[in-house]
Amino acid sequence: MEKASPELRKRCRRLNKRRVKLKDAEYIFCWIQQNLRANDNPIIDAAVAAGNKYRLPVVVYHALGHGYPHANARIHRFILEGSRSLAPAVEQRGLRFISYVERPEKMEKGLVYRLAERAALMVTDDIPAYVARWQAESVANKTRCPVIAVDANCLVPMNEFPKQLSRNKYFRRAQTPLREKYLEAKTELEPDVSRYEGEFDFEPDDLSILDLDELIGNCEIDHSVKPVEYFKGSRARALEQLKWACENVLPDYDRARTNSSHPHNGSKLSPYLHFGQLSVREIVREVRQNSKPKQTNWKFLDELLSWREFFHHTARHSAEPSAYSFLPDWSRKTLEEHAVERSELSTPPLNDIIHGETYDETWNAAQKQYVLDAWMPNNIRMYWGKTLVGWMKSPQEAWYTACYLNDRFSLDGRDPATYGNIGWCFGKINYPRRETKIYGTVGRPSDTAMKKRTGVKEWIIAQAKREVDRVEVPDSVEPFNKLTS
Ligand SMILES: Cc1cc2nc3c(=O)[nH]c(=O)nc-3n(C[C@H](O)[C@H](O)[C@H](O)COP(=O)(O)OP(=O)(O)OC[C@H]3O[C@@H](n4cnc5c(N)ncnc54)[C@H](O)[C@@H]3O)c2cc1C
Repeated sequence: MEKASPELRKRCRRLNKRRVKLKDAEYIFCWIQQNLRANDNPIIDAAVAAGNKYRLPVVVYHALGHGYPHANARIHRFILEGSRSLAPAVEQRGLRFISYVERPEKMEKGLVYRLAERAALMVTDDIPAYVARWQAESVANKTRCPVIAVDANCLVPMNEFPKQLSRNKYFRRAQTPLREKYLEAKTELEPDVSRYEGEFDFEPDDLSILDLDELIGNCEIDHSVKPVEYFKGSRARALEQLKWACENVLPDYDRARTNSSHPHNGSKLSPYLHFGQLSVREIVREVRQNSKPKQTNWKFLDELLSWREFFHHTARHSAEPSAYSFLPDWSRKTLEEHAVERSELSTPPLNDIIHGETYDETWNAAQKQYVLDAWMPNNIRMYWGKTLVGWMKSPQEAWYTACYLNDRFSLDGRDPATYGNIGWCFGKINYPRRETKIYGTVGRPSDTAMKKRTGVKEWIIAQAKREVDRVEVPDSVEPFNKLTS
């Protein structure tokens, strides 16, 4: 019988204190919220280990509601393509897979709770930001079965660091020696119990036969933010992207990533990491095997393993990473001290901001990339985020506008890396600089310096030529989290 290894157990965190009740239990309930892969997925492995222990089959469930913040056709399409390829891969592991897509003609109430009623135990994603975090906590409070959150996002589980490390240099130092252990850990546990063949009290959706355009067309979401051609959400497409990155991006990573015009200025793996079609571990293994020279690999792996996982760590130790209160006291204080200067600002209208039609051509080029491509190179994101710090009538409004634009348009948005990096633009894990107007001691962007960087001028010209689709414009930007202060 295959059991949970110590490495797998370290990924698991109990979200409530309910006891396992085996009487009448029909299965172990594996609720995948975001990690859309069947292989190297510790959430599924934890469910299989529990199934083997309690002699119960595993039911893997993925659902897509239409009420999540920023619900739009772009995000819906990417998720559903991922979910469509997840189904057969889960079944191939001998597990039952069911899925549900909410839409007006098919509204199910409390499905997670109904499915949990019949389970001995539930496992789900441990994600420190956005909807998956609140949902897991809320379900754990209300359901009668034990709920275990499993970290399937990081190579080294967040649970390894119970105390907050304030800087990446401390985090990197603590995390690096643990990497090999988790790279080697056994995955893909075999179920001992055969597939669950029972019935459910609703008709699961079969994404392999549903027309995704029609299905998405019927969902009550924002259809003005359209899917992008480049990013398709299937597992096969994610693996293709990884292969492309190893062959083309990694060999010149150091140099190309700071050149916005370079076709290889990033692996573009972030959407697949956010929605979990790829595991960090498989990326690391692939990079080590298939990409040379080692020097550029180091930089890439530092972004992937240190920075990305540091921001997961930071989000885990914060009450709500998307809230303004996520920012450090010193930066909020200095920004608020300079708030009066903001009254003189001519903030561009929200319509012009959203469509990249402001007076700042560099910023416009960046915003156009978010709207049209659902992705942007890292150095451009820095300028984009820092500019927003100084545009709004209050620092709170600036924070929520930056989060709103990033979360709504970028496929990798709504991530711990989103709030960590936008936070960096607002002074988080950053140092106070020379005091200036509006920004106080928060570092300000320089358009002149930006334009001197390799590739930026050409990149601005290229973006300026692009026609932006008109998207819906709200009256104002409202924070979606519960901690708005
Ligand atoms: C204002 C601003 C907003 C950002 N918003 C997001 C976001 O919403 N989601 C997101 O994943 N990243 C975000 N980043 C970080 C970074 O820009 C993106 O991760 C990167 O551009 C994604 O492209 P890539 O996959 O080609 O990255 P690569 O350069 O190929 O790097 C490989 C992977 O390493 C990780 N990574 C790289 N840079 C960083 C970083 N600075 N912080 C954390 N992880 C990193 C990502 O997972 C990335 O996919 C933001 C940065 C800034 C300055």
